[in-house]
Amino acid sequence: MALRQIRYDGDNILRKKCKEVTEMTERTKILIDDMFETMYEANGVGLAAPQVGILKRIVVIDVDYENPYVLINPVIVKKDGEQTGDEGCLSLPGKVATVTRPNHVICKCLNEDMEEVEIEGEGLLARAICHELDHLEGVLYKDVADGPVRDVEYEDPEE
Ligand code: ZN
Repeated sequence: MALRQIRYDGDNILRKKCKEVTEMTERTKILIDDMFETMYEANGVGLAAPQVGILKRIVVIDVDYENPYVLINPVIVKKDGEQTGDEGCLSLPGKVATVTRPNHVICKCLNEDMEEVEIEGEGLLARAICHELDHLEGVLYKDVADGPVRDVEYEDPEE
């Protein structure tokens, strides 16, 4: 496993649409392992392949550091409810913005064995799924935020 270089906002690769994964190769397995390692090292809860410069529809998520998910070619098939809260991104370090997302989603995707699976997410997991899937379309959270992107340290500690 190896850490990958995280791409930051302003890098064109974050604005491109990703391609479907058609087969699991050794290279892709290594990429997935590296994505987890890179995400954990950066204290993130999700990472999409374009964030490490790879234009493939692959996402890794682990919102509680206990339940790692690999989402390949993910599609949200159901969403309901609403949650509004601060969201950050490893590609915009030290920044947050308020984003409204569905509170509950069901996502169809392939796992690392290319088997069809359904992931049901509520709360933070639902938010992470929506955020990471946006990356596969070249969309960043700041594009869909309710307000401006702020520096984390300027957050009101009362909030
Ligand atoms: Zn992100």
